[in-house]
Amino acid sequence: MNPIIIIGSGLAGYNTAKELRKLDTVTPLVIITADSGPFYSKPMLSNALASKKTAAAIALNTPEQMATQLNAVVRPRTGIDAIDTTARTLKISGGGDETLTYSKLVLALGADQIRLPITGSGAADILTVNDLDDYARFRAAIDGKKRIAIIGAGLIGCEFANDLAANGYTVDIIDIAPQALGRLLPPEGGALLQARLAALGVQWHLGTGTQSVERTAGGYTLALTNGTSITSDVVLSAVGLKPRTALAAAAGIKTNRGIVANRYLEASAPDVYALGDCAEIEGMVMPFVMPIMHAARTLAKTLSGEATQLRYPAMPVVVKTPAHPTVVSSPGPGMSGEWQVESGPDGVRALYRNADGATLGFVLSGKHTAEKATLSRELPAVLD
Ligand code: FAD
Repeated sequence: MNPIIIIGSGLAGYNTAKELRKLDTVTPLVIITADSGPFYSKPMLSNALASKKTAAAIALNTPEQMATQLNAVVRPRTGIDAIDTTARTLKISGGGDETLTYSKLVLALGADQIRLPITGSGAADILTVNDLDDYARFRAAIDGKKRIAIIGAGLIGCEFANDLAANGYTVDIIDIAPQALGRLLPPEGGALLQARLAALGVQWHLGTGTQSVERTAGGYTLALTNGTSITSDVVLSAVGLKPRTALAAAAGIKTNRGIVANRYLEASAPDVYALGDCAEIEGMVMPFVMPIMHAARTLAKTLSGEATQLRYPAMPVVVKTPAHPTVVSSPGPGMSGEWQVESGPDGVRALYRNADGATLGFVLSGKHTAEKATLSRELPAVLD
């Protein structure tokens, strides 16, 4: 019997395998991954200094341990170059003639960090953190250093800024947007977060882009589009993610912003499924842990023979900025209403309400985060 093959050993790939093994302990299962294949929780990467964890300590299980636990073959450091959806085969990068045949294929390929077109002799040295290997490189780079420049004041940039500043680093953060977390927070929320991180020593450079990064004797100089410059020992970029769609697109599988999947997590080719950061499920790209856990549980049922549709409840995202705790539950697509924002020195409480007064989404920060559980219960499902 040909195995179920999962490409990807991130939270989407491993959690699908874990959920499948709760329902089906015997179907042959192969997990293939281009990276080193440990099981780890990616959200820990942006607050690992606070939790005093090294990259090695974040890895919870080795690929060998995962193989035993999942009764699966796990192949780390193995890239897949091509999928033939007619022959149901996969071609391994640099693998000569080796092909693998699947009965069902799960694409859990994740997303790439977007790289901005920045010029200069130091541009190639700009780091990104999107997996454990990246994080090990980042920790080696900041060891014994002082000043870190972060390009991007979104969720990941702000979390790293908090973690680094709270642990003795001097942080400059640059974003073309006029406020921190511009896509998630109302201006009042952004302003409070900025103030609390500034109190930790974070210096903000908002409404400006990064033009070039030049190597200097002591580190790097960043030239900003507003004409100012910053010096730094290490430059980290966190400007957003782009779902990995190329492998699927080259195989003729339908892609849009992500690999297109329906409520059964089915992609456009027979017996091919997609979930996690690479997927666009029912038109939504949701690169967060909770949607992945729901999708993994649903897909495991389908893979084990019980075709099951995905349902998403409201899934608030906690921004890991202890300097100013923040939690966001964005309204689902197509939900219409208006934001009602209350703000004070201790936090922001913004509710997105429809004409009938029903709460469809929220932003809570500071003391108002205590209302997270109560308000979450009021929210409608994102995908019912
Ligand atoms: P990934 O973990 O990226 O896994 C993709 C896998 O596919 C990898 O194993 C890769 O090697 C493999 N792969 C890709 N292409 C190939 C190929 N061609 N051949 C073989 N293998 C391939 N979300 C939250 O909800 N809360 C948080 O607090 C939070 N914090 C975060 C902090 C950071 C620093 C980051 C980067 C993300 C954070 N997220 C958070 C997002 C969340 O971690 C991700 O949504 C989730 O981990 C993505 O899992 P994934 O399995 O889809 O992708």
